[in-house]
Amino acid sequence: MTHDIAGTMLAALDDAASGIRDRAAYCPDCGSHPADLCDGDADRLARADEYDRLAAQLPARCGLSALLTGGA
Ligand SMILES: [Zn+2]
Repeated sequence: MTHDIAGTMLAALDDAASGIRDRAAYCPDCGSHPADLCDGDADRLARADEYDRLAAQLPARCGLSALLTGGA
């Protein structure tokens, strides 16, 4: 995997997690839910956490640890 592809994947994971969190922040269902989090967003936010974990592991797993310190 090249640095370009890894960087794009990290950006995509970051965008996906951010999008999920933005959407949950403005979700009317969450606002009216007793737990302040509707079922759909609970699932999506769990996925966003998985994206974050994957993004954190990806550079090391692919031997691209420079991405962690040098910026993508
Ligand atoms: Zn929601």
